[in-house]
Amino acid sequence: MNGYRRVLIKLSGEALAGTLQRGFDHLIITDVVKQLKILVENKVEVSVVIGGGNFWRGRTSGSMDRTKADQIGMLATVMNAIYVADVCRAEGIPSVVQTPFQIGSMTELFSKDAALAHMQAGKIVFFAGGTGHPFFSTDTGAALRGCEIEADALLFAKNIDGVYDSDPKQNPEAKKYTQISCQELLRQNLKAIDAAAATLCIEQKLPIVVFDLGATDGIVRVAKGEHIGTTISI
Ligand code: UDP
Repeated sequence: MNGYRRVLIKLSGEALAGTLQRGFDHLIITDVVKQLKILVENKVEVSVVIGGGNFWRGRTSGSMDRTKADQIGMLATVMNAIYVADVCRAEGIPSVVQTPFQIGSMTELFSKDAALAHMQAGKIVFFAGGTGHPFFSTDTGAALRGCEIEADALLFAKNIDGVYDSDPKQNPEAKKYTQISCQELLRQNLKAIDAAAATLCIEQKLPIVVFDLGATDGIVRVAKGEHIGTTISI
């Protein structure tokens, strides 16, 4: 398969919940996992970061201590990774969940070397728990792990089909970019990815593709290099 050799796929928690908005839409997740399986069968090294928005929106919890809210958010990402990893097992794909902190025997501690060895052995590696620190997002966790494992690209599967110059839900005239530089994204303060993640990607020259999780075979097509969504170049 032409395209990327090693990818990090970021799935937003909300996109995995589908119209339910909370928890898991099993049909969506099974479809995602079947696509991941195609990538693995085509010798693409696959890692995955999943957000936590289908369980917890810590930053909107009013007066709650931010650090505690973020800790719950990070644990939500672990639950998501364990769920999707189990769907991988059911679909016959071996996988591993790594976290930046210890959670007994439920996950492995993050290690670049171990992650690469797993991926090279055809396993999908889920990087759960974000960066392990509050005041960051799973976007930043994805950018960090993507840099560490020297991914060819970050593939961001979202509830929206790309990067727009304004929110298409608010503005029917909003214009979609097929390509935009990471610097321009920051300059225009577009919210497609957060600034910490964007800065890391610029520094490490890591391209990002933002696309719709709902697009038919979207993950496979983007990994093959097909131009859907928005490419954020560096
Ligand atoms: N989070 C965190 N540190 C990290 C990554 C995530 O504190 O390194 C928290 C984040 O604040 C949020 C939650 O984990 O409350 C889930 O992440 P996010 O909102 O990015 O998920 P998504 O919107 O992609 O579903």
